[in-house]
Amino acid sequence: MTTTIADRRIEDAGLEAGIARLTPEKIQKTILAVLEGEGGARLKTYVETCVRCGMCAKACHYYMSHKDPSYAPVAKVRQTMWEILKHKGLVSPEFIHQCAQIAYTECNLCRRCMHYCPLGIDTAYIMSFVRRICHKLGVTPQYIQDTAHSHSATMNQMWVKDDEWIDTLKWQEDEARDEMPELRIPLEVEGADFMYSVIAPEPKFRTQLIYQAAFIFNQAGLNWTMPATPGWDNSNMAMFSGDMEIMGRVEMAHFEAAQRLRVKRIVMGECGHAFRAIYDVGNRWLGWGMHPVPVVHSIEFFWDLLNSGKIRMAKKYPGPVTIHDPCNVIRGRGLMDKLREVVHAICDGVVEMTPNREHNYCCCAGGGVINCGPPFKNVRIVGNSVKADQLKATGVKTCIAPCHNCHGGLEDIIHKYGLGIELKFLGDIIYECMEKKGAS
Ligand code: SF4
Ligand code: SF4
Repeated sequence: MTTTIADRRIEDAGLEAGIARLTPEKIQKTILAVLEGEGGARLKTYVETCVRCGMCAKACHYYMSHKDPSYAPVAKVRQTMWEILKHKGLVSPEFIHQCAQIAYTECNLCRRCMHYCPLGIDTAYIMSFVRRICHKLGVTPQYIQDTAHSHSATMNQMWVKDDEWIDTLKWQEDEARDEMPELRIPLEVEGADFMYSVIAPEPKFRTQLIYQAAFIFNQAGLNWTMPATPGWDNSNMAMFSGDMEIMGRVEMAHFEAAQRLRVKRIVMGECGHAFRAIYDVGNRWLGWGMHPVPVVHSIEFFWDLLNSGKIRMAKKYPGPVTIHDPCNVIRGRGLMDKLREVVHAICDGVVEMTPNREHNYCCCAGGGVINCGPPFKNVRIVGNSVKADQLKATGVKTCIAPCHNCHGGLEDIIHKYGLGIELKFLGDIIYECMEKKGAS
């Protein structure tokens, strides 16, 4: 069945308030300014080279789940950017609402479709550009806008106060010292080899991940630290809301914390979008081709610890388990082999999903879609039945996903489709099954 975006219109406070302030003339002025200032050769090339072949359709989990051609990647571009360009930006406020709904909630920016396009067109880039226009027009889903503003106001997305951040680290250190008395969570150590970096939900409601990471760092005998100042939260929803100015500030604070401490390397926790923000987007926006401080994702970090013998497994986690490949570190960074080597080193009975690696289906939470909140929850869950089928076909009850957003998205579809699958981070399994020297 073919629908239109008008058939699927969803009310959202941010979108409604945003379009109420607009006129076609205001919209055109803003769009022309964004196109002139930021719309370079890449956008022009993608728009002008698309041959409308439709080969990207079957790459997109929204299309595959709904079997509705209007969810195909090329259809999303046709309904948004092509119309914007055709009308030279002179479009209605209601049309901007439709653009925002498509770009923010019907595309995860997962970049799977780019692999299936014979011309390598990156629809995610075009949808990011549409989001940028919507942001400049003040038409952004309320929930993700709130999160970006929280980060702007407090330098973390969850209003964790500076003293709460330090208290939480000390609390986790105390807890972990009951198990391993020598353990420390070192703060503000200048010249440390590693700065460990987490997202704000960890001190807020996933503190066990900080405990586990501290345990692994201490067992490996590493010279590491965490910052006591703003810049510790590596999440970045502004990257997905299209607010590149706040996105850049967040990444600048992150790099500045590492540079102030003169650490040799930043280790990012198990989060995909945060890695994309610091590794691929923030550095470029800030004018650095490469990073002023080297950055590694936890997959690479764990791979190195296991291969160098700095940590050892006392036993393997009993399988069968399957692996979910997060878009931002697999398609985005090519860590598919290292992820498998880590999982095989720590688990028995690995069952691959089909397809996998760079062809894996997205969790349908990344790209900021889960952060657009309850109004759009059903869109992403129904729009990812193909992922539920993929998980179910493995027949396993444990899935390893080294990404926070993937946990959020997969939890929702596991619940909705009654899959009975438990999700794990790599750190969960390493902590549970590693040799624990000096631990009680
Ligand atoms: S980037 Fe992902 S979600 Fe967006 S159109 Fe392409 S395949 Fe679909
Ligand atoms: S596969 Fe590429 S060229 Fe073909 S319709 Fe999709 S974006 Fe256009």
